[in-house]
Amino acid sequence: MNQRWRLLALWLLPIGMTAVLAWQLLGSSQLSPDTSNATSIAPKNTAVSRMSYGRFLDYVQDGRVTSVDIFDGGRNAVVEAIDPDLDNRVQRIRVDLPGLAPELINTLKEEGISFDIHPAKTAPPALGILGNLLFPIILITGLILLARRSSSMPGGPGQAMQFGKTKARFAMEAETGVKFDDVAGVTEAKQDLQEVVTFLKQPERFTSVGAQIPKGVLLVGPPGTGKTLLAKAIAGEADVPFFSLSGSEFVEMFVGVGASRVRDLFKRAKENSPCLIFIDEIDAVGRQRGAGIGGGNDEREQTLNQLLTEMDGFEGNSGIIIIAATNRPDVLDSALMRPGRFDRQVSVDPPDIKGRLSILKVHSRNKKLEASLSLENIARRTPGFTGADLANLLNEAAILTARRRKESIGLNEIDDAVDRIIAGMEGQPLTDGRSKRLIAYHEVGHALIGTLVKDHDPVQKVTLIPRGQAKGLTWFSPDDEQMLISRGQLKARIMGALGGRAAEDVVFGRAEVTTGAGGDIQQVASMARQMVTKFGMSDLGPMSLEGDSQEVFLGRDLMTRSDMSDAIAKQIDEKVREMVKLCYEETLLIVKNQREAMDKLVEILVDKETIDGDEFRNILSEFTLIPDKERITPILNT
Ligand code: ADP
Ligand code: MG
Ligand code: ZN
Repeated sequence: MNQRWRLLALWLLPIGMTAVLAWQLLGSSQLSPDTSNATSIAPKNTAVSRMSYGRFLDYVQDGRVTSVDIFDGGRNAVVEAIDPDLDNRVQRIRVDLPGLAPELINTLKEEGISFDIHPAKTAPPALGILGNLLFPIILITGLILLARRSSSMPGGPGQAMQFGKTKARFAMEAETGVKFDDVAGVTEAKQDLQEVVTFLKQPERFTSVGAQIPKGVLLVGPPGTGKTLLAKAIAGEADVPFFSLSGSEFVEMFVGVGASRVRDLFKRAKENSPCLIFIDEIDAVGRQRGAGIGGGNDEREQTLNQLLTEMDGFEGNSGIIIIAATNRPDVLDSALMRPGRFDRQVSVDPPDIKGRLSILKVHSRNKKLEASLSLENIARRTPGFTGADLANLLNEAAILTARRRKESIGLNEIDDAVDRIIAGMEGQPLTDGRSKRLIAYHEVGHALIGTLVKDHDPVQKVTLIPRGQAKGLTWFSPDDEQMLISRGQLKARIMGALGGRAAEDVVFGRAEVTTGAGGDIQQVASMARQMVTKFGMSDLGPMSLEGDSQEVFLGRDLMTRSDMSDAIAKQIDEKVREMVKLCYEETLLIVKNQREAMDKLVEILVDKETIDGDEFRNILSEFTLIPDKERITPILNT
């Protein structure tokens, strides 16, 4: 379905462009809502004097112009200039321009004049002709709107329509209202940042002993770990205004716009110091200059240069601290990290079990929980969840509770919400039949191997209720506290993933195996390959044969080709194949030996649709000996 929409969207691209032009001529304000404040200073409705283009250029040379707003595709502009004869009063003057000449833009940039380009407006003579075209245009636009909604590809029609639309430049919050107490589970980061609060609140404590106050702090961590929240909390604790701008907003299609935004931002910040500037996704502008396929991106580099200039431009204790966030510090331009710029890095990692518990406490403050519900258990069930995931989890659980018309959130709602976040929406179970049995055997195959192979994580539950893309699911509970994974465990995981296919194979025969194991097999391939090439776990020995760089397009090093000969590449393939083959044989053997147990388990599973881990192990123990899984259960003292 999705695929089809994308195709449609692609196909519509040329028509889309035509329609955009038509709409712009028509002056429709609905299709391209102008979010900036440009309309309020549009040339028409402001009583301003006029001047000639030549005079305007003189003004620019004399440094009298402070800002320029360009309209109608560069045909006219409103200029703000100061008049030395009138106490430097600011005047608004209208100028007719010869068009959007690059020389003009360059001059403005050189002179450091802030300027903005607003989208083109009505051209009345076109109206008459367009009247006749109205119907097809509306029709086509309707289609485009449809296509646009479903297309998220960069460069697709959605992108084309946004061209030239001025966005809000940056956001300012006088008071964020967020305190350090609202950010949980990132104790170390908070300690590091506590100092920044002091810089903002009592700079004299540092300057009096001659210490330079740092200008920039880089927060590094995956999405959803609370970087934005931390930045807001610093502003909240220090009681200073919070300016924010996202790196992706810098990167504009009009050359020079990004840089002028940076300039505006710093200008406003200086007027409001002490304050905090937060630049989210700094990697969007701060990538290594001159990297990437197809040469550098001038616009981005200019923006970055402007940012660096601004950072160098203010004194150490100007009262402005810049906090930037990224999850890809490796691609950042090294000039950004130099002393006097973002020379401090604070990493904001996904929380461990204790962290998760304290985040859950923060977010359950305003929620009604059943008395029996233990947050500790939830924290244990959610390894890998970030702060944002946990906040989302509690919210989903609250929604489910309301939908079920219950008074307070219980364990069932939490469980369902966790499943939903990890695996997607629940679907309708299949009616009994051949497919349902096949899926049941497949899942029991996973669970069987997971239980009988000693190094595998224990089974948490097996279910035939579909979720997301999956028709059936086997859940395991990974050991969260364990940092390193052994070779035995990796092998066990490969076998576990192969268990589903092995069961289909044994029960239904080779001709009947299904595509259902596709995902499993992909996982197997990637685990086995990493064991050989990354972890040195094959008899090729401890060698790292493949780098991490997969993102050729984005990263710093354009083409890190591995220094691998064809002979080695062939050996790797052989080792991977051999490893998977051995694992599959071992898996098949276990499955064949447990045929009877499997039949019984499938019977029960088809009937009940879900079996939890303990029940599964109970039933299986009637047929065979189950190895003990020693685990380090996390000890909590909070
Ligand atoms: P990031 O900027 O790192 O992507 P955000 O700060 O935007 O993450 O986090 C999104 C939301 O997730 C926050 O508004 C908050 O509700 C929740 N959240 C994330 N991390 C934490 C945390 N450490 N403590 C409390 N809430 C958090
Ligand atoms: Mg963020
Ligand atoms: Zn499977």
